[in-house]
Amino acid sequence: MPVRFVDLEAQRDSLGDQVQQAAIEALSRTDWILGSEVELFEQEFAGYCDAHFAIGVDSGTSALELALRAVGVGEGDEVITAANTFIATAFAIAHAGGSIRLADVSPETSTIDPDAVEAAVTERTKAIVPVHLYGRPAEMDALQEIADRHGLAIVEDACQAHGARYKGRRAGSLGTAAAFSFYPSKNLGACGDGGAVVTSDPEVAESLRLLRNYGQREKYRHEIVGFNRRLDTIQAAILRVKLRHLDAWNASRARHAERYSELLAGSGVELPASAASGEHAWHLYVIASSERDRIQSGLSELGIQTGIHYPVPIHLHEACSYLGYQRGSFPVAERQAETILSLPMFPELTSAAVAHVAESIAPIVAGSDARSPDSSGAAETASQSARRLA
Ligand SMILES: *Cc1c(COP(=O)(O)O)cnc(C)c1O
Repeated sequence: MPVRFVDLEAQRDSLGDQVQQAAIEALSRTDWILGSEVELFEQEFAGYCDAHFAIGVDSGTSALELALRAVGVGEGDEVITAANTFIATAFAIAHAGGSIRLADVSPETSTIDPDAVEAAVTERTKAIVPVHLYGRPAEMDALQEIADRHGLAIVEDACQAHGARYKGRRAGSLGTAAAFSFYPSKNLGACGDGGAVVTSDPEVAESLRLLRNYGQREKYRHEIVGFNRRLDTIQAAILRVKLRHLDAWNASRARHAERYSELLAGSGVELPASAASGEHAWHLYVIASSERDRIQSGLSELGIQTGIHYPVPIHLHEACSYLGYQRGSFPVAERQAETILSLPMFPELTSAAVAHVAESIAPIVAGSDARSPDSSGAAETASQSARRLA
């Protein structure tokens, strides 16, 4: 049984024509730039996140950059983020004019280690960007304590954590501001690029509205050097439809995660730490094993797609070599890059598929040949499209 890593067709089919209908209506209205659907989505998404404001932008990367600018990050300000994250987290700091400072992640949670953050703070530090990696909220109490003590802003990278909670509070309401991505495969995904910044601070919200729209509050009155980074109206209309399904989708993800953990117990791989019920958004279900490459290729031969999030820690990318870190600088993130494996995860995954994936792993770890005779052709296409999606 081939299993995709993420199956966007399954989501499209489950929604019937609701998404197409919303898109066609938005298309026919002609208010394509900052139209009524953008404002409605912003209100609904802010409400969903238990925050006062959401400002729609054109991607998660823009959301991070503009949020950093809005909380006051500028030339030379240091911003601390995790060594294991998607590259956009680090790039956004540089785009905002800040200097990237990395901190290692905790081995148990894969989120930024508060002790490492404390050690990285200097007089020039302006903000912390904790990443709710894989949908698991970072250790916000400890980070907030550090931020308060040093007078730092916190911008949550919630791009993988739509609907996650930390001690009952929604991701998006935990820092000064939070950045979300609506890239199609995220827990809440558009049919194209999109993003939002969520905040309860009216000044930060106002600053973001200027930043995303040429620095203008009134047409042709430009108060600051702004950008064109607006959320597309048609995508906002689509996101309004999908937002109504987000809680049910996250509940399915949580069921799949629980089932994976039950079935993989004793298989010889490391399982993700469990989380309080309803807190982890399970964007990804990530196991770890020193046999990672063998497991990945064994699964691929069975037509089961997997991913690695991420195969290269931030400091070891060529683009970040100027930061001056080396191999060995962040041992936990480096070790994770060599051992982690993301299993298929999307709401419409069937329990049979979850069981098939989980039950295929132990024999590979044990070294036996679990290959089915006619799966190699499918396996190639599977791993090719897994690379495309990652
Ligand atoms: C997806 C993602 C981003 C970037 O979002 P885009 O919409 O692709 O620009 C940033 N950080 C993390 C952790 C992400 O997963």
